[in-house]
Amino acid sequence: MTGKTFYLASLGCAKNTVDSDSMAALLYNDGYTPVEKPGRADVLIVNTCGFIQPARDESLKVLRKLAKNKKDGQVLIAAGCLTERYRQQIAEQIRGIDGILGTRRWMDILDVIHAVRPGQPHPLYHLPETPIIGLDEHGVMRASIQGGSAYLKIADGCRRPCAFCAIPLIKGTAVSRPADVILDEARQLQDMDIQELILIAQDTTDYGHDLGIKDGLAKLLARLVAAAPEIPWIRLLYAYPGYVTDALIDVMAGNQQILPYLDIPLQHAHPDVLRRMKRPADIDWVYRTLSKMRQAMPDLALRTTFIVGYPGETEAEFQTLLDFISAIKFDHVGVFPFSFEQGTASEPLGDPIPEEVKNERMARLMELQESISLAKNQALVGKTLDVLIEGKDKDISVGRSYRDAPEIDGLTIIEGQAPVGEIVKTRITGAMVHDLTAQLIS
Ligand code: SF4
Repeated sequence: MTGKTFYLASLGCAKNTVDSDSMAALLYNDGYTPVEKPGRADVLIVNTCGFIQPARDESLKVLRKLAKNKKDGQVLIAAGCLTERYRQQIAEQIRGIDGILGTRRWMDILDVIHAVRPGQPHPLYHLPETPIIGLDEHGVMRASIQGGSAYLKIADGCRRPCAFCAIPLIKGTAVSRPADVILDEARQLQDMDIQELILIAQDTTDYGHDLGIKDGLAKLLARLVAAAPEIPWIRLLYAYPGYVTDALIDVMAGNQQILPYLDIPLQHAHPDVLRRMKRPADIDWVYRTLSKMRQAMPDLALRTTFIVGYPGETEAEFQTLLDFISAIKFDHVGVFPFSFEQGTASEPLGDPIPEEVKNERMARLMELQESISLAKNQALVGKTLDVLIEGKDKDISVGRSYRDAPEIDGLTIIEGQAPVGEIVKTRITGAMVHDLTAQLIS
């Protein structure tokens, strides 16, 4: 080993992927070379996820395996959200970790690598007490490029009081990145011929609040379309209910580049449950705003997320959620069983709803949503849709239309070969619950 190779395992959400790619960029700029196989690396890094138990289990599994197979002279660094929250427990549970770096200081990865010494009895901890995510990004792009798409991080951290969520404990409060830096990165991505720019944060609709900017996201979008007019698609994820303003709807409806797509996790629809979750409970606002958006953007595709089995959720409250889903007819829905999280405001409520009840409610909700998704997809048969090609095989190509965000929504399967990384015109020929089939049209 040359002393300058690294292997990075990135776990968790797209926001963590951006942190991983930024850490990789810092190493690359310092003369390190990425390798695919951990056995060939001098430095092993795991960018962990600490959001809920299943994600924590996966992070621990990856760390344990790398620690067990570690060779003499290799160093293992645990970074990310799990370390920010459970730094001590990780070191006690897994022998062989040389350095522990928190997610708020991802940009100090080189300092940690230069300071750790392989085989020390205790890991080096680098988790300086800081209430927020650092903005000293050392000039690396806060983006993750995946084929013709790029996730671009516009902010990090969160100031919302959602009772079930540990993110504010992990990341600290919301910190917006300077708009000029974001615009410059968008120009660079345009020069790289990126076709889809996906704006991410814990809460994109809170962009600029900490900078004293009202309607910060709408204003940022207006500058973005001017700064990067050649990027065909701009997609918004992680909107917070109550903060989808008229200004935001206007800038979305008024710019072809900004896709008529919105991911707005609502978590529930019964006001009492929402109040117990410390979430916005004005369901009339949701009805009004989504109908306003659909008037302004008739082709709007809506994604949301719900939690079932939140402490105290009655059958009647759950039924209200089902009725809401039937009424709104979302294009895509994600559903999670309530996950008990220590240290959050919901901790005193415990986890009283039995797993089998949570699973039964998840199944009923998804059954309803699948019938809605299928009907929506069937209504597209015969229509034309632009599709961003992400892969191809012998005689088919696969991609996504504006209606589908990467990794979480559906795909369009196209007969024939189409250029990867490009947006092509297609006619929809068939519909499934989540995916579509199509043929190329010139
Ligand atoms: S808005 Fe999202 S990230 Fe922020 S506390 Fe609520 S659920 Fe967590």
